[in-house]
Amino acid sequence: MPRSGFCVAVGRLLLFGTVLVGQGDPAMPPEAERQLAREIYKEMVEIKSGYTTGATTPVAEAAARRLKAAGFPDTDVFVGGAIPTKGNLVARYRGTGQRRPLLLLAHSDVVEARREDWSMDPFTLTERDGYFYGRGTGDDKAQAAVWIANLIRYKREGFKPDRDIIVALTADEEGGGPYNGVAWLLKNKRDLIDAEFCLNEGGWGESVAGRRISNDVQLSEKYVINYRLEVTNKGGHSSLPVPDNAIYHLAGALDRLSKFAFPLRTNEVTQAYFRALAKIEDPSIRQDMARAADGARDAMERVARVTPAWNATLRTTCVATQLEGGHAKNALPQLAAANVNCRVLPEEKPEYVTATLKQVIADEQVSVTITGDVSTGPPSPVRQDLMSAVSTLTNTLWPGVPTVPMMVMGATDGLYLRAAGIPTYGVQGFFYDRDDIRFHGRDERLKVQSFYEGQTFLYELVKRLTSGHSG
Ligand SMILES: [Zn+2]
Repeated sequence: MPRSGFCVAVGRLLLFGTVLVGQGDPAMPPEAERQLAREIYKEMVEIKSGYTTGATTPVAEAAARRLKAAGFPDTDVFVGGAIPTKGNLVARYRGTGQRRPLLLLAHSDVVEARREDWSMDPFTLTERDGYFYGRGTGDDKAQAAVWIANLIRYKREGFKPDRDIIVALTADEEGGGPYNGVAWLLKNKRDLIDAEFCLNEGGWGESVAGRRISNDVQLSEKYVINYRLEVTNKGGHSSLPVPDNAIYHLAGALDRLSKFAFPLRTNEVTQAYFRALAKIEDPSIRQDMARAADGARDAMERVARVTPAWNATLRTTCVATQLEGGHAKNALPQLAAANVNCRVLPEEKPEYVTATLKQVIADEQVSVTITGDVSTGPPSPVRQDLMSAVSTLTNTLWPGVPTVPMMVMGATDGLYLRAAGIPTYGVQGFFYDRDDIRFHGRDERLKVQSFYEGQTFLYELVKRLTSGHSG
């Protein structure tokens, strides 16, 4: 069966007898729709909505302007949030009300990006070598732009869904904190976003060297704990050093942490993930994947060594991310501290992680404290209508590419919604190279073709889930 992107592309060209990009390709939206989505995408990427220095309100307002211009009544377009700069957009596309609403979520903030760290301006949408570059091109403004573009398209086409479609573009997913839009909406405007279930970021298509290998649906996610490791010391003059040094204590602790790995384990979702991959991965790893799904330790160890992503799927991880310490070049340090960022398997408790860290650090002088909130949510139940709609559509657009249920390593706003009783599924139809994920990093990018194909995928998927004939 032809599984490579190349074979599929050639098949399409032969089938439709044309070499014009987008013509006859079921995954390519019509030209006018592509243009609209690109315009919205560009507008969103170029608004500086960095988590610490930026504002999300202009993103919400830009989307609200477009929806109103497309004929959405003012009463169905809400902009508001915890503080004036951290606005959220909630828009409602009215259906017949036969079923409870479907919520479409994307966050409008981005991780900070500095011009000097990038090859180009991170806040200009740059199209180069077949990619869209810019902060948020992947995380999460592609989905935000596509939700808005598709809503406008449904309106223009007169689509009548059997349930309301709600789009929410929300503040401060990155880092959470007091202005998180989903938490704020749940607390203050629950009726605006209340839904039977939600589609969100967190699940995407995976490719290897340009070959699409799976379209992933996220059913559960790891949760985050940040720890502060801290050592204090009376200090003194640096000309009279003593062995008891705050920086050395901390360095020792971090060195021990760097050599430690949490135990490997699987759960219902990751077992299904590895079983699905066992059918499509490189033959050399297939048997290990199948055995890893069954819990064989040696197989899990080999699989974890193949990519950081599989390692993180199989275990809790904790890594040092920030350092501070010392107060003068010529003084013994009175303080040394580090932030350790942990991504925890949903079935492991915070108490277990804390106890394990203390045991690994094995130094009474290094205090280990949780900073910020820790929120955990239950996995979303497997919805047959969703899974079958995704797999049918995936097979239509990208023949032979399987739909794979998964747990993601990063945490998303789905955590708040799941905890509030709104099951949330990560699905996008954008494909990324598994070994070149640039979310939060320099030169973040998304393939131009993949952006437009994702637009089609989400357009069709939402239609199926709101038309009473899912799948
Ligand atoms: Zn994100």
